[in-house]
Amino acid sequence: MIIPKGSKLTGEQIAQVERIANDFDCSILEIQGRNRCVYAILGDEDREVMFKRIAGLSFIRRVDMIESPYKLMDKRSGLSDHLVKLGMEEIGKSFPFIIGGPCTIDPDQPNLYLETAHALKECGVNALRGGVWKPRTNPYSYQGDSKALEIIVQARDETSLPIDVEVMDLEQLKIALEAKVDILQIGTRNALNYSLLKEVGRLSAGSDTSILLKRGRHVASPDEFIAAAEYLVAEGNPNILLCPRGTTPALDGYRNHPDESITPLLKNRTWAPVIVDPSHSVGHSDFVKACSISAIAYGADGLCIESHIEPSKGIGDDPKQAITPTVMKDLIACCQSVWENRYKA
Ligand code: PEP
Ligand code: MN
Repeated sequence: MIIPKGSKLTGEQIAQVERIANDFDCSILEIQGRNRCVYAILGDEDREVMFKRIAGLSFIRRVDMIESPYKLMDKRSGLSDHLVKLGMEEIGKSFPFIIGGPCTIDPDQPNLYLETAHALKECGVNALRGGVWKPRTNPYSYQGDSKALEIIVQARDETSLPIDVEVMDLEQLKIALEAKVDILQIGTRNALNYSLLKEVGRLSAGSDTSILLKRGRHVASPDEFIAAAEYLVAEGNPNILLCPRGTTPALDGYRNHPDESITPLLKNRTWAPVIVDPSHSVGHSDFVKACSISAIAYGADGLCIESHIEPSKGIGDDPKQAITPTVMKDLIACCQSVWENRYKA
């Protein structure tokens, strides 16, 4: 990875670096961070002479040769000080970043979503979630509807909160980008769909869009999880949020095997913020608060929680696992207090 002296290389400087890289059959990729660009070498980058020549250029601050399966996501990479920002907030800075909202937006009842959004904003939620297109285990269950996108966009307009929407294919991705969705969610079923990850990274490169990448449900190891995120960054979008959401097989009584304890292992290896999803981990509204507190104690930067103003009227997962805004308010207060005390003796 190449780190320039200034905030980014000029066209002529890029051309100089490229000429050297091309001599070794490599090319360079610009990755736009919030404050500066870094440049990855693509190709067989195991070429010491090439790096020495690039490091010798007067406008290059440093060249990192990181031995890592995920050299951009690695904590030692030039992106280590990259801050993911959503709206006005820098994730992980001073409070748990909470994404809240229904599992699924009911397109026939827009008011239920809009009222939920306003109630959650009142509770202190920092971003709104809501399924537009749904990955359902049963092909006859409700599959989602593009109409729902208008509802969540309206909720953003009314609350000024950023919005999080899952995309499962290229067509949905394009529609979501067109609507300027702030957080593109990649669900657990697509967590290792590398072609989709590449498209998401490529089409959102250079934008402010964040990507919430869920952990693969088949017990993806920390390295496998981080390497999946590397696909997104390698295509040019470093605004990554890693989201543990429980793995299978389930712990008897829970929907999945809660995995918030993976958080410190991820944080030891990568700079990317960790946003835990307690709702799909435990799968029952009664256990969501304890799992949330536990996640924050483990060092998570935030939470993605299913919440609905009237869970029994919801669709998808909402009747069983959405918490009400009242519970959300109490949960946020508890998490804030754990956050403030977690590193005290
Ligand atoms: C969801 O967030 O509603 C969802 C389907 O999540 P996951 O991909 O973790 O199952
Ligand atoms: Mn859900």
